[in-house]
Amino acid sequence: MVDVAREEIDRLRASVRAAPADANAVRDEIDRLPDRIVERLAARSASAYPAVINATGVILHTNLGRAPLQQPAPESLASYLALEYDLGEGRRGQRLEPIQARLAEVVGAEAAVMVNNNAAAVLLTLAAHAGGREVVVSRGQLIEIGGSFRLPDVMEASGAHLVEVGCTNRTHLDDYAAAVGESTAAILVAHPSNYRIVGFSVQPALRDVAELCRRHGIPLLMDQGSGALHDLGRWGLPPEPTVSELLEQGADVVCCSGDKLLGGPQAGLITGGSRWVAPLQRHPLLRALRPDKTALAWMDRVLDAHRRGALDEIPVYRLLGTPTATLKRRARRLARRLQSNGVPAQAVATEAALGGGTTPDATVPSWGLALPGDARLARELRESSPHVVARLSDDRLLVDLRTVFRDQLGPLEAALQRTYHGIHDSQDVGA
Ligand SMILES: *Cc1c(COP(=O)(O)O)cnc(C)c1O
Repeated sequence: MVDVAREEIDRLRASVRAAPADANAVRDEIDRLPDRIVERLAARSASAYPAVINATGVILHTNLGRAPLQQPAPESLASYLALEYDLGEGRRGQRLEPIQARLAEVVGAEAAVMVNNNAAAVLLTLAAHAGGREVVVSRGQLIEIGGSFRLPDVMEASGAHLVEVGCTNRTHLDDYAAAVGESTAAILVAHPSNYRIVGFSVQPALRDVAELCRRHGIPLLMDQGSGALHDLGRWGLPPEPTVSELLEQGADVVCCSGDKLLGGPQAGLITGGSRWVAPLQRHPLLRALRPDKTALAWMDRVLDAHRRGALDEIPVYRLLGTPTATLKRRARRLARRLQSNGVPAQAVATEAALGGGTTPDATVPSWGLALPGDARLARELRESSPHVVARLSDDRLLVDLRTVFRDQLGPLEAALQRTYHGIHDSQDVGA
């Protein structure tokens, strides 16, 4: 407290020295000092990762934590838990076995592994099966995902050597066949999750690449990315291959993220045939990449919801599945209430997106509010309590309701009203 008080007093002294003011103005500043100091102290103990209302319409927003976690938190996290303990025998058990069994069951695979994130999943898979040897990848699939995942770099870190084949827009089965030789350890197919190559483009069918791998006795590794387990057509989105489909089409190992379309905590999930997945379960790197108890407990619940088909228990699917008519009703009601309080908000149809590097060119129909506003309104909303992240489009602030949970509508309305009046009332006084 003393440090903050001294800093505020020094700041005031410096500002008076820099631009001498009259005695009354200085006295006002001194009167405001205690409030300033209290504000600074409160800001210091604020959460480093505060909750925000996501009004961007991007469902899997990587900067806002991707998939929101199911609530309440798993009960076992409030106390000790049987994390790697065999309750029947009363001795040390296996940490990853239970989650691996559950994951394998949900996607219909022989075996599975869970690690910290998908980057770790790809790293472990390559290190175990291709360290010091060659991995063949199409030039159209040398992907970079936000947050510094670059396939060629991960490959280098794993010790595998990248062999590029084909062209950016076209790779043929013959290109793969010509590149596979004595020192080839695997073919890696990466799902181009955050971009599309359209027009004169082609990639061979996965089944054909799988057949080529089988003839050479090498594994077909797949970086699927999104963790889609269900046909996205159910929500009017373009198809994204599910983990089970890729396994069925002949991928030997499929890697994906846990916090994208799977709707769970940050994790990397590896599934496939025992021949290629079992060595990962014994690999020394796994100890360095193993998930913590919070991720395991949450993943267990999310997988159970997928297994039961209870998708409405998973926040991502609740948001995705909210009927557009419901969002329209909410937007109109919010707009009416704000207007009657002097905020010129209008209900508008918007386009939300899945985000998280999935279905890059598809949108999800949505509704929201448009307010006349600029960067200042957007910033003050971000800094308000609760924090509201919206987007600017032309001269309007767009508040998309696709990503706002129902119990956030009241706090959202209050924040919009307070912030809008905070700016406009002070401007009126100034004029
Ligand atoms: C998201 C993604 C990754 C990175 O996954 P993280 O879980 O963020 O490490 C890698 N590859 C693909 C294809 C992705 O979509």
